[in-house]
Amino acid sequence: MIKSKQNNILVFNCGSSSIKFMVINPDSEKYLIKGIAENLNAENPMISIELSHKSLYKDFILAQNDYKFAIEFIVNTLKAQHNLLNSLSGIGHRVVHGGEKFTKSALIDNQVEQAISECIPLAPLHNPANLIGIKIAKKVFPNIPHIAAFDTSFHQTMDETAYLYPVPFEWYTKHQVRRYGFHGTSHRYISLKAAEFFNKPIDKLALISAHLGNGCSACAILNGKSVDTTMGLTPLEGLMMGTRSGDVDPSLPIYMNQKTNMGFEECINNLNKKSGLLGVSQLSMDMRTLESQAEKGHKQAMLAIDLYCYKLAKHISSLLVPLGKLDGLIFTGGIGENSVLIRQKTTNLLKAIGLKLDQNKNANLKRGNVGNISIPGSPKILVIPTNEELMIAKDTINIINN
Ligand code: ADP
Repeated sequence: MIKSKQNNILVFNCGSSSIKFMVINPDSEKYLIKGIAENLNAENPMISIELSHKSLYKDFILAQNDYKFAIEFIVNTLKAQHNLLNSLSGIGHRVVHGGEKFTKSALIDNQVEQAISECIPLAPLHNPANLIGIKIAKKVFPNIPHIAAFDTSFHQTMDETAYLYPVPFEWYTKHQVRRYGFHGTSHRYISLKAAEFFNKPIDKLALISAHLGNGCSACAILNGKSVDTTMGLTPLEGLMMGTRSGDVDPSLPIYMNQKTNMGFEECINNLNKKSGLLGVSQLSMDMRTLESQAEKGHKQAMLAIDLYCYKLAKHISSLLVPLGKLDGLIFTGGIGENSVLIRQKTTNLLKAIGLKLDQNKNANLKRGNVGNISIPGSPKILVIPTNEELMIAKDTINIINN
């Protein structure tokens, strides 16, 4: 039986059609239960839940497809499982956009909710879903502190030369057009883990973290602060991703409009959902599929992989500008943590900045472990599994305790 108030934190990540959740202990860093409710507001709403690595529900069909029903289902499961519900000290919510208002995680009160709502024009798909999750969770858990952790807040330390676009200045002052950056919770977590690896204070390190999942971004972190990152006003800028193009010429939508009559929205939708690895390979957004098909000679899969690594290497080298030196490049996210091939191809393109990979260490690194895969004399090349939920849980408990 789990005793009450063990400082366990429930972390919610509410997307437009899904809710991911995890109960995690920020001290032991272990998770107790986690799951995902999918197809919300759509057909076939379902939930999968894992309790300490054992499956409780797998694609279990939910009787209703709304957020409230899914959150109540989660609450009832927490009650039924050794009364996990009573072990909670706080709830951490992932919020995508905090604009310029949030430089760190914040205790959610009416003003914070209002500020998240004001950022909706900057993240019209994500912030509304995040807010719905917060409102329902606050009703279901009225007596527990709720904390918001923003994807953008870590990047608020960027200098204006890094965050401004060279566009008419009033676009920034009147319409908040600037680079915000995302994946901040992951980049921050990675930089702290890297400092542990180096056994040095974080304020003595120059790092580049490459978060390579379905969405991909890289971040230059100097003395523990984000000084530049590849994503911008929205998460479409920067690296090539699973289905997102990353950087393209801004004239592209008008050109495609003239050529094919494609509307602006449709073009942007194509750049978000039909480009990147999927668009170039014409096969899949999934790196595992592309690697296995490339091995069998699939030309487009090979091209997509080469393009991905080239863009990544180019962006990584550009992030040296605000750093001035490099102690370590860190790979994380599903691709960064697992793909021997992508790490090898990318670092091969980065010899000019002194990066030298140890092929053996790269090939034999145990999954889920932190490891250095560089040869002596090179800046370190580290692989560090990310853990955004843990970072959010740590923020939550820190805010509660202070
Ligand atoms: P998300 O951004 O949705 O959290 P992940 O971080 O889980 O996504 O990353 C998903 C990506 O990681 C997919 O492209 C997947 O193919 C890739 N990936 C996972 N495992 C491997 C592997 N062993 N080798 C290559 N790519 C992998």
